Amino acid sequence: MSRLTDINYVKGVLSRHGFTFSKALGQNFLVNPSVCPKMAQLSGADDKTGVIEIGPGAGVLTAELAELSYKVVAVELDKRLLPVLDETLADYDNVRVINADAMKLDISALIKNEFADGDVVICANLPYYITSPILMRLLEERLPVKSITVMVQKEAADRICAQPGTRASGAISAAVHYYCEPEVLFRVSPGSFIPPPKVESSVIRLNILKEPPVKAADEKLFFRVVRASFLQRRKTLTNSLSAGLSLPKQNISDALSQAGIKPNARAEEMTMQQFADISEAVAQFF
Ligand code: SAM
Repeated sequence: MSRLTDINYVKGVLSRHGFTFSKALGQNFLVNPSVCPKMAQLSGADDKTGVIEIGPGAGVLTAELAELSYKVVAVELDKRLLPVLDETLADYDNVRVINADAMKLDISALIKNEFADGDVVICANLPYYITSPILMRLLEERLPVKSITVMVQKEAADRICAQPGTRASGAISAAVHYYCEPEVLFRVSPGSFIPPPKVESSVIRLNILKEPPVKAADEKLFFRVVRASFLQRRKTLTNSLSAGLSLPKQNISDALSQAGIKPNARAEEMTMQQFADISEAVAQFF
């Protein structure tokens, strides 16, 4: 365990650097001494597995990852944290901090340049304002990583991990299940952070699949169908798909009947296979 699990040490360093938290950058830093070691352990970081961290903040999680992994590359957008990280991570010669926007950085190139061989995992206490876009970006790029372990808002975690075809599922559940097997690992209370967020958080791990669980002839259309299906989740699939895909209702009814799906079914009842069947059947209308 690093000295960064001591809240007074972290507060002291931040205040000496005149640091003030930015809400816009989703800055809620972990200060619960048991959360970071547990998260680092469950991320799969070890002496043969490199780690990419997004948003190291004051470096509390970074230090735990550096204890386990041979190399950690941490991507931080906020320049003001660079001198803080220089100080808090001074004991670790296996950490590289890059000042960049994780939404724009070429992560595929970073993996090639920084981790020549061996496995790579991603681990982050994500800034909540970009949870979905960043996760979808990491997944859609099909990065050569084994897993992605992230802290997100509890509601987002439950939605992301919900099995498609169940009431709790949404467009993000289907999109995520196309690339990985997600699981909720543990809950984290607001009191574990400074400043405390208004909501509970959960740590989830996305275990990357080698092959998608269903075959979609046209992947882009598969994801369009998923998004359109959930656009108006209270409505029937016929209505939401017709509006979301800009196709006449008759086309949608024909496609649903070809796929063996009732016209009044709802998005949350659809399995991954049924979404693939629908996308196959609507393809004829484009
Ligand atoms: N890892 C630290 C911890 O657990 O205490 C900080 C987590 S805090 C929730 C999110 C961090 O992500 C902040 O340090 C913030 O500055 C950084 N961040 C926000 N947007 C970012 C972006 N687009 N790219 C990289 N880092 C970002």
